Amino acid sequence: MNGPPIIDCDFPGGNILLERIESDTAYIRQDLRDTEGDWFYWYFGVRGAAGRQIRFQFTGSNVIGVLGPAVSTDGGATWTWLGCETVENNGFTYTFAAEAEETRFCLAMPYLEANLRQFLERYRGSPYLVEGVLCRSRKGREAELLRLGRIDGACDTRVLLTCRHHCCEMMASWALEGIMETVLGAADDGEWFRRHVEFLVVPFVDKDGAEDGDQGKNRQPRDHNRDYEGRSIYPKTGALRELVPEWSAGRLRFALDMHCPYIRGEGHEEIHFVGTANQENWRRVVRFSEILEAVQTGLSRVKSREAGSRGPLVFKAENNLPFGQSWNTAESFSKGKSFNEWAGQLSGLGFASSIEIPYASAGGRAVTAETAKALGRDLARAIRRFLQQEC
Ligand SMILES: [Zn+2]
Repeated sequence: MNGPPIIDCDFPGGNILLERIESDTAYIRQDLRDTEGDWFYWYFGVRGAAGRQIRFQFTGSNVIGVLGPAVSTDGGATWTWLGCETVENNGFTYTFAAEAEETRFCLAMPYLEANLRQFLERYRGSPYLVEGVLCRSRKGREAELLRLGRIDGACDTRVLLTCRHHCCEMMASWALEGIMETVLGAADDGEWFRRHVEFLVVPFVDKDGAEDGDQGKNRQPRDHNRDYEGRSIYPKTGALRELVPEWSAGRLRFALDMHCPYIRGEGHEEIHFVGTANQENWRRVVRFSEILEAVQTGLSRVKSREAGSRGPLVFKAENNLPFGQSWNTAESFSKGKSFNEWAGQLSGLGFASSIEIPYASAGGRAVTAETAKALGRDLARAIRRFLQQEC
């Protein structure tokens, strides 16, 4: 093979800065753009490397997760974890197959507009799903707004789900897909939701950031999840704040904002809920946590035809992060109100929280597109039981 490999990120979600290539080592780093401080999202493609072994050396902070990079040999359609065997000193080595065309590498397993489109296609024509637009983003993209379940106005309760306030946190999106799959699916949980509950879903709050491949976390001048105070500076958060109280009509009972935590470390490799200073709300998060644990261990009192199909990612309430612990302090929210704090003050709401779903390993089990979706299905079952028992 002649010439250096071609390394680029010219596709949705792409993010890499190529510094130089020396023989078979590429020196690269994540593009932080308007991030305050450091973060760790990256996603790039490699061509012209068939049959070669190349080392990818990151030159900044340690941006490789606990299961190594995620790799795709089909243009980003499917992903596997490469594992840690070839990871060393903030770099990894990869041997490209003799027939390799484009191979992609990422911090984790990307979820972009194309993935959502593919999912929604399965339900085209469904009377239980309406695709709308929350608003146009700053860059002119349409930020999706989905309504699903009992959408004819006659629902008993309403549920709000949001994702990608921090655009790099893609593994949360796979779990969100699992929740939506349950609401629209054939099993009895889906039937129940479609009789009683209307869901409002904003799958990409930071729509531009997700497609552009930004970090999003600690974005300057303002993080999307600190934009719920004063006048919102982003069209999507502003539109959401305006829409939700009206849409709720007093029936919103449950609001969940879906995130991924830090790349690694104690507390960041476990699924957990994050509390606010609102103690009444925290009590409900604790109750929901008990229900989710019960659903996963099969102890739920509500029988399900899907018994035995619980996801492999196990939630333990003991891993929750109440307000006042670790990073979750008033100081962390001094730059503006979060979605959680805002939603927790909406009238009649029973539950407002964010869930943190690790990028790679949760309780020692691999987080993948499939296992995260299975966690989403467990979350949906728990939401049903919570609404039935507590609201
Ligand atoms: Zn986040």
